[in-house]
Amino acid sequence: LVVLTDVNKHFGELHVLKDINLTVTRGEVVVVIGPSGSGKSTLCRAINRLEPIDRGTIEIDGQKLPEEGKQLAQLRADVGMVFQSFNLFAHKSILDNVTLGPIKAKGVKPSEAKDRAMALLERVGVANQAGKYPAQLSGGQQQRVAIARALAMQPKVMLFDEPTSALDPEMITEVLDVMTALARDGMTMVVVTHEMGFARKAADRVIFMDAGQIVEENSPEEFFTNPRSMRAQDFLSKLL
Ligand code: ATP
Ligand code: MG
Repeated sequence: LVVLTDVNKHFGELHVLKDINLTVTRGEVVVVIGPSGSGKSTLCRAINRLEPIDRGTIEIDGQKLPEEGKQLAQLRADVGMVFQSFNLFAHKSILDNVTLGPIKAKGVKPSEAKDRAMALLERVGVANQAGKYPAQLSGGQQQRVAIARALAMQPKVMLFDEPTSALDPEMITEVLDVMTALARDGMTMVVVTHEMGFARKAADRVIFMDAGQIVEENSPEEFFTNPRSMRAQDFLSKLL
């Protein structure tokens, strides 16, 4: 569903993505881990072209991502993204946050967008907050709204970039539970996270990045019990 071929990216002299080759199949959950600065966020941003790449190709569902234009907007709508900071529209209600995208970008009728939004808010457990504003919600609730907002666009794949790292411990679980349920429902997901429990439980595959390269790619069982590379072994030993 998502195919990256020889993707390279520089920031000036810094080579942040080095010959990245990655295929994510439909329904697969890929967890990306690695030290700070290894290029995980850049990889996510490249997948929906928030960040242009220097070389290589990215395909979403068989279609090559173009550099810009209307087609890019369409392809990008297929890729939902949830960031560390929740990025909700502060001056819009929770309900409006979830309905605006479908109404504006996809031409969905407001009444239909609202029905769908309420169903999604129900699914992530915040339907009773629909009339409130983001600042009135806890971080965990806001992040669940952000997930509902991304889902409202009916994406083919969801990217999560450290969705729980700005949250207090008691809120992390509620967000991870929503993500785990999403994974079980068959959503294709790329998740950058430091939550190793989630990786073990929900990942089909773990990708370990270091210095802009995919150093290791493995099943979670193998990766956590028997990492092949020194760099992964070193990284894991520091976590424990
Ligand atoms: P973290 O775990 O801290 O989030 P990361 O693996 O997500 O790290 P990236 O954010 O992808 O890492 O950054 C990779 C490298 O690229 C880092 O060295 C970073 O400083 C650099 N970098 C990221 N964005 C830019 C930018 N817009 N301009 C210049 N350098 C950048
Ligand atoms: Mg990052």
